[in-house]
Amino acid sequence: MLRPIMRGLFWDGSSVRLRRDLASVQAREGEVVLRVRSVGICDTDLQIVRGYMGFRGVLGHEFVGVDAQGQRYVAEINNACRRCAACVAGRTSHCPHRTVLGIVDHDGAMADEVAVPRANLHAVPEAVEDHRAVFVEPLAAAFQVIEQVRVTDTDRVAVLGDGKLGILCARVLRTVTPHVTLVGRHAHKLALAGDTITQRRSSELSDARHTFDVVVDATGSPSGLEDAVRLTRPRGTVVLKTTVAGPHALSLAPVVIDELTVVGSRCGPFARAIDALARDLVDVRSLVSEVFPLDRAEEAFACASTRGVAKVVIDVAG
Ligand SMILES: [Zn+2]
Ligand SMILES: [Zn+2]
Repeated sequence: MLRPIMRGLFWDGSSVRLRRDLASVQAREGEVVLRVRSVGICDTDLQIVRGYMGFRGVLGHEFVGVDAQGQRYVAEINNACRRCAACVAGRTSHCPHRTVLGIVDHDGAMADEVAVPRANLHAVPEAVEDHRAVFVEPLAAAFQVIEQVRVTDTDRVAVLGDGKLGILCARVLRTVTPHVTLVGRHAHKLALAGDTITQRRSSELSDARHTFDVVVDATGSPSGLEDAVRLTRPRGTVVLKTTVAGPHALSLAPVVIDELTVVGSRCGPFARAIDALARDLVDVRSLVSEVFPLDRAEEAFACASTRGVAKVVIDVAG
């Protein structure tokens, strides 16, 4: 029997191309096929086409879709085996056998359809429209910071990096303390954070030391960790969100001398992110720069790589 075909934005290792000849998605055991409604382009997608993770296939992991019954869902991106010791202990996002949607060995959501494990689904309340629902995954990653580190309303917190993740982390931290500073290189990107968050150019803080109780590195650059260590007060906490920092020679002596706690931080709680969007605790609308239909996905991808552009959203069903 001839299987129906679908569209999908496909990375083959040398180019990003909208293909119209992909086989329709088949659900494997435990999976559900969703029709994709909208999908966001993430910096991770841009890094994949520069070689990150060696991925090949349909890109996209920040999406909202609908099942055969018409229910809207977002889905966690780590597809765990749910049988190994890590999974049984509840660390499914660290399952050593996992695939990751649109990142490791599993086709992503920049397509008409996507297959995801039923166990990964989270229903989206009506109050959260599609263009905010695509932020659940990165917003959950931002909430992971306050899942891992106890931040109180007297804590002075800095987020290094004025990209989308940095801004989301700053906004989430702003829900627990008024003392949040976003540090970045670009005035226009810093301004996106809004005026309840203090904005500082990196150059203004180049001589500062021990200024903050908690510093989050979301720079995506090798120098971020070094700056974070310098800016954190003794016995303070450094949170690392940067995954692609290349090799660098950081002296770890300040971590010892200042008795810093260093926390690596990745995927986070979807339920908390959905709740924050439903209650409008964290604004994400202002981060959408452009919206493209799937037929113009290649253009959307090029747009997302342009300097100064925040979130680019692709509408699939429309
Ligand atoms: Zn992402
Ligand atoms: Zn497992």
